[in-house]
Amino acid sequence: MSRYLISGGRVVDPASGRDGHADVLIAEGVVAGVAERIDAPDAERIDASGAVVAPAFVDMHAHLREPGREDEETIASASAAAACGGYSAICAMPNTDPVADSASVVEKVWRAGRAVGLVEVVAAGALSRNLEGHKLADLGEMAMSPARVRLFTDDGNGVQNSLLARRAMEYLAGFDAIYAEHCEDAALAAGGQMHEGERASVLGLRGIPAEAEEIMAARDIALAKLTGCRLHLLHVSTAGTVELVRRAKAEGAAVTAEATPHHFTLTDAALDGYDPNAKVNPPLRTGADRAAIVAGLADGTIDAIATDHAPHAPEEKDQELTYAPPGIAGLETALGLTITELVAPGHLTLMQAVARLASTPASILGLDGHGGPLAPGAPANVVVFDPHGSVTVDPARWASTARNTPFAGRVLTGRVLHTFFGGSETARDGAPLGAAVDA
Ligand SMILES: [Zn+2]
Repeated sequence: MSRYLISGGRVVDPASGRDGHADVLIAEGVVAGVAERIDAPDAERIDASGAVVAPAFVDMHAHLREPGREDEETIASASAAAACGGYSAICAMPNTDPVADSASVVEKVWRAGRAVGLVEVVAAGALSRNLEGHKLADLGEMAMSPARVRLFTDDGNGVQNSLLARRAMEYLAGFDAIYAEHCEDAALAAGGQMHEGERASVLGLRGIPAEAEEIMAARDIALAKLTGCRLHLLHVSTAGTVELVRRAKAEGAAVTAEATPHHFTLTDAALDGYDPNAKVNPPLRTGADRAAIVAGLADGTIDAIATDHAPHAPEEKDQELTYAPPGIAGLETALGLTITELVAPGHLTLMQAVARLASTPASILGLDGHGGPLAPGAPANVVVFDPHGSVTVDPARWASTARNTPFAGRVLTGRVLHTFFGGSETARDGAPLGAAVDA
């Protein structure tokens, strides 16, 4: 196994609180040393001067489309995209075909991720059978399978039945697993194409009100308090939800939340040209909602930046907005949007950005060895990025099979230079490395 000496970079490691220049030696799959100056003549030297060396990122929310829609993305292509984006672990959402609602499917996804070997693929399990919201899935079996599922969600569908939500939480609390919700009241949101508001009226499109999200977020927080279950709110999109989470945390409830790069970057104005690539669920909201999400990320109300990477085939996205499926492929633009929209304008420090991208999601998921600390003996899951380097978003060059993004052509600040997973270099300057990529 190769040895690497990453020299002269600025180590930003929230788990240890370290922020300063240091050399990092990677050997035998682990961090072999972090010190002001390390001599290792036999190691491959990576000049990181001007760059940041940090724990590789952890994405709590990605759609890998395998099994079922391998034309849109595979576990291999998503793993390669994640490596290029600076990730060492990604959490695979269960809305596949078949649905990941049993031990056999989650184990298959987890094993396929291991076979590719570019990132750790963490399987999420469905809460209800076939995501139908009627009967609980085999939660205990999935938790005890080799995939060791920790996060359960019907993502894509909010759990409409409050009694089922309560029962799921009571059950999950028993083994300290996470109930994760796509907060959306289906009746309020039905037929909606974008955020309900002035712009939707002007564009003549049916809207999804902020209340569709907030009603379910409030219900879930109440049920989490009742049951003692850990609750994680997926892709928070409204100012009201941010405030609900802030209050719940102040009261000591076991609630965490994530936000996507597109929700902290864009507003519903992105739909003015009826761009199907800006159609996403939950929808892009108003400037005030976007500002509340940025503030929530800054003060820690929102714990994690998660991509909600949602690859779609070009022929599906390339149709009238009303018929196009919602979603943005985000693994290869997350760092650039984080630096450009949050760090460069001064909303978050680099330390806070790395915390939201890496250490906090790793600790929520209980992923030992990911998210730092970068200490001797820890698995070498490391990213090196240039916080000042610019990159033009060019989906044609992505490792992801998908091309659906509203950011094509945009120049972003923040460039991933090297990603290491378990001591192996998995991506270099936007290109994946490793034999398993074409698997
Ligand atoms: Zn969702």
